[in-house]
Amino acid sequence: MRDGKGSFICGLYGGEPYASGEQPESGIVKLNTNENPYPPAPGVLKALADFDGRRLRLYPKQDGGVLREALAAYHGIAKENVFVGNGSDEVLALAFRACFGFGEGRPVLFADVTYSFYPVWCKFFGIPFETLPVGDDFHPRADSFARQNGGIVVCDPGAPTGLAEGEAFLDGVLAANGGASVVIVDEAYADFADFSAISRAVAAPNLLVTRTFSKSRSLAGLRVGYAVGDTRLIAALTAAKDSFNSYPVSVVTAVAGAAALEDEAYYQAVVGKIKETRDSAARRLRTLGFDVPESSSNFLFAGCGSAVRAKAIFEQLKANGVYVRYFDKPRICDRLRISIGKPEEMDVLFARLEGYLAL
Ligand code: PMP
Repeated sequence: MRDGKGSFICGLYGGEPYASGEQPESGIVKLNTNENPYPPAPGVLKALADFDGRRLRLYPKQDGGVLREALAAYHGIAKENVFVGNGSDEVLALAFRACFGFGEGRPVLFADVTYSFYPVWCKFFGIPFETLPVGDDFHPRADSFARQNGGIVVCDPGAPTGLAEGEAFLDGVLAANGGASVVIVDEAYADFADFSAISRAVAAPNLLVTRTFSKSRSLAGLRVGYAVGDTRLIAALTAAKDSFNSYPVSVVTAVAGAAALEDEAYYQAVVGKIKETRDSAARRLRTLGFDVPESSSNFLFAGCGSAVRAKAIFEQLKANGVYVRYFDKPRICDRLRISIGKPEEMDVLFARLEGYLAL
């Protein structure tokens, strides 16, 4: 790789990394990274306030300790079926490394319109992959996975589409796979949907489900992700982790994360409010002429008619302090991904949008 002075530095990683949304500190309406607009549960804030900093002298438990135990109890499964990591991005990265790439050159399969980190991890780890085109309605087709593969990744609800696929789709993918390769289901947004594959994952030998506290539990800044699956998959993930970083989950994260599972009523209320705001924002966007598929997540995927128009609206909103996400990518460059904020934040979005449309 060439440095700024034009000289050659041998052996540096030159792959294209994942590009996450912008993170300005304040002063904007932030609808660009699917964060939760409501604060974490009061129990989490109390656990953080009560935390005795002197405990930080010691390393944390390697397996996430109380957080892993709390997750196992929450889902009613054994802790040997649970793996905890530093955000689900890290859990997914380790899962790619642990479960894929040993398929004698067979490609890992995922949709062409999906979470854009999947190809980044494949390239980073040298895992061959193939993308399968989703339909014009952005739904992946289960039967398209019926081919030799070194693993499968599906995102349900989908990113950046927000579309739910559900149990029949999963059955179709598992049937299409047929073989022994691992199927990962990324459920980052499943708390806003009606279906989860978690109960299936404990029973199936080759199904791994990943989850996050970043969206439904308002804890993007804490970094908590986890996976549920067969004990052999969890053991492989643990071996991958211990070959990389033995202690990815801090003591503070474990304590606050465990507290987040205690206040179920608060969490259900927050998810309920977001779903309500989402459905009314979808209706308002449709009234303004946007093409908005039914979302089962905490964001909307609004079709603007053309790439030029989508980009123009994105820039206009940004200039007026409303950040949404624009992906300059084939098939989705005519759309905006809009995270669901509080009703008053959505009102600002609509005021700016209506201002733009009136121009
Ligand atoms: N999967 C999907 C589909 C996502 O959109 C995200 C958030 N960018 C993640 C996983 C990772 O979330 P986190 O690392 O915050 O748990």
